[in-house]
Amino acid sequence: MDLAAAPPALLVRRHLYLGGAWADPTGTEPIDVENPASGETVGQVPAGTPADVDRAVAAARAAFPGWAATAPAERAAHLDRLLAALTARADDIARTVALELGTPLKLAARVQTSLPLTVLRDCVELAARPPAEETIGNSLVVREPVGVVGAITPWNYPLHQVVAKLAPALAAGCTVVLKPSELTPLTAYLLFDAIAEAGLPAGVVNLVPGTGPVVGEALAAHPDVDMVSFTGSTATGRRIAHLAADRIARVALELGGKSANLILADADLPTAVKVGVGNALLNSGQTCTAWTRMLVHRDRYDEALDLVARAAAAYRPGDPFDPDTRLGPLVSAAQAERVRGHVDRALADGARLVCGGPDAPLPPRGHFVAPTVLADVHPDSALAQEEVFGPVLAVIPFGDDDEAVAIANNSRYGLAGAVWSADADRALAVARRLRTGQVDVNGGGFNPRAPFGGYKQSGLGRELGPYGIDEFREIKAIQR
Ligand code: NAD
Repeated sequence: MDLAAAPPALLVRRHLYLGGAWADPTGTEPIDVENPASGETVGQVPAGTPADVDRAVAAARAAFPGWAATAPAERAAHLDRLLAALTARADDIARTVALELGTPLKLAARVQTSLPLTVLRDCVELAARPPAEETIGNSLVVREPVGVVGAITPWNYPLHQVVAKLAPALAAGCTVVLKPSELTPLTAYLLFDAIAEAGLPAGVVNLVPGTGPVVGEALAAHPDVDMVSFTGSTATGRRIAHLAADRIARVALELGGKSANLILADADLPTAVKVGVGNALLNSGQTCTAWTRMLVHRDRYDEALDLVARAAAAYRPGDPFDPDTRLGPLVSAAQAERVRGHVDRALADGARLVCGGPDAPLPPRGHFVAPTVLADVHPDSALAQEEVFGPVLAVIPFGDDDEAVAIANNSRYGLAGAVWSADADRALAVARRLRTGQVDVNGGGFNPRAPFGGYKQSGLGRELGPYGIDEFREIKAIQR
């Protein structure tokens, strides 16, 4: 099918963004974008090719010396103009995320749109600060931008994941080629509309939509890309690290998780459960930091299960554009099928169904899965070990703090987690023992300036705030 033949009702984008202008793709194949709440095709973007990646990388390379030499205050002024142009599109962004990902509209506005705007606002401020320099003996230690960055992003937070790479990379003085997820590319186009309007210097940011195996691989393997910054699954992260290793290119990897929510015996149970269930079901469970294992002290276990079932019942699946909907569909039929497979296997492995499951009512169309809670989940079972990426919560009992920590750390992942206790010192002591990059104590809440990233197979490097900008810098020692 030719792009030109697409029905006009679709949201059709026909171009790449290269060297500061919209450009024709070299190929003619489109990628269809689906509304996961209905299964209908709602948009199209071009399927980029390796030749398109070459053009984009060449544009980013050509722009690098000028952008790297631009004064921090001037780079900050560019990012500030981008912030204004993106803020003006906030409503459109929320609607587009609701349409192509299925996030309920209210949440799409609150999290999917506000969070990246906050991150960009932070980067405007941080970009204005020249990088720290220090003297160590006879050395002057300076920080410089890494170079051309290839950014490859997933579909679950289609604007946030992009901004969390692009804004700090630009603030550090790097130039960027972005490949957004082929499942949710329309949101990325709104960002590039804003980039075009803000008038960033030509070549500083470039967009090549396309599939992972074609555009993603070409970008990760490109000899002129100095760093690959990737967010997505651990399997793809491993592949990207292999490709980058051939030329010793830098990688930053934000990967999967299987985070534990530790509810100690003295915790405020109603709050811990309510916040915990909300966290696990946020964005239909398609959140890398989701607390998908709820660990509850045996003395409070039955009480907790009652509360969990009641809290989960409030997340009725429905139309993302209905203001009362709190749970949208999963992003694709394949993802919904995978999640149902995880539930079936957990039941076969002996887990107890508390609510949801295969027989729960669902809207007639779309890729919905009911919010599902499974109790008595064995810490070694597949459900407790594998990332499900759906609205599925595993509840596991424990006897004391040591056992809770051991269960939490019994994972190849180490991205996030939570601890609840009436004793703040005890909670902090437990938080320190968790092998994860983020821990929330008694509902502390997400801090968009704090370093974000994973231990173990959850990733390499950190995003957000000053740490996120430093990720895009080399360190040079000048001996005098
Ligand atoms: P994915 O790994 O399938 O895809 C992510 C991106 O990589 C997409 O743009 C895709 O096109 C591209 N890609 C796929 N194969 C590729 C290849 N061989 N070479 C280069 N690029 C390739 O992941 P997904 O399904 O889009 O996202 C879900 C996963 O992402 C989950 O596992 C989730 O935990 C993880 N995730 C992690 C974070 C984090 O910050 N740690 C955030 C969001 C999502």
